[in-house]
Amino acid sequence: MNMLASATKSPNVAPQDFDTVIKMTKLCLKEIAKVKYELNFTYPQLCANLSVHVKKIRGQRSLYFEETWSSLPTISINVADYCAGFTYLNEYASYQSSPVIGTITSCSPRTALLATVAHEVAHYIQYHCGPSVYYLHWCYKKPHGKGFKTIYRYLREAVVNPQVRADAGVTPQLQHNLSKNQVVFDEI
Ligand SMILES: [Zn+2]
Repeated sequence: MNMLASATKSPNVAPQDFDTVIKMTKLCLKEIAKVKYELNFTYPQLCANLSVHVKKIRGQRSLYFEETWSSLPTISINVADYCAGFTYLNEYASYQSSPVIGTITSCSPRTALLATVAHEVAHYIQYHCGPSVYYLHWCYKKPHGKGFKTIYRYLREAVVNPQVRADAGVTPQLQHNLSKNQVVFDEI
């Protein structure tokens, strides 16, 4: 089992929702650590340097930041929209019309949460790995710039978008079963 630097939740976050976010985070880290992406960071290394916090506050953004006292990379994931059953994910204006990394207009709440986690993990990778990766070091600094979009694209194509397509292509009954059985996480 690969440990994150820390994993915490606000008191009002249900344990199963916290577990879901942690599994989604690890799914994204496991994907982006694959040799084909040439980061030269292993999956355990990526886990060990990341802190994850799960909160549930209506109207707040999920975000990436570095703790001021420790410089520990942290993603703070808001599950309020997920718990409210939101079935879309808005992306930033500069790339929201992209068919690969843009806004998701229709998907299950679970897939929307997965996309949110992938977005914040992409920020972690851009800042934590960017300086030492040959195809990122020159473009990693801008928050939603080329470096971010490169990593987010990898995660959307490999992890998120197949699930968006599955959400769109299955029957309502199967869709219900998919979200209940969490099939996307079986490999963890
Ligand atoms: Zn962002």
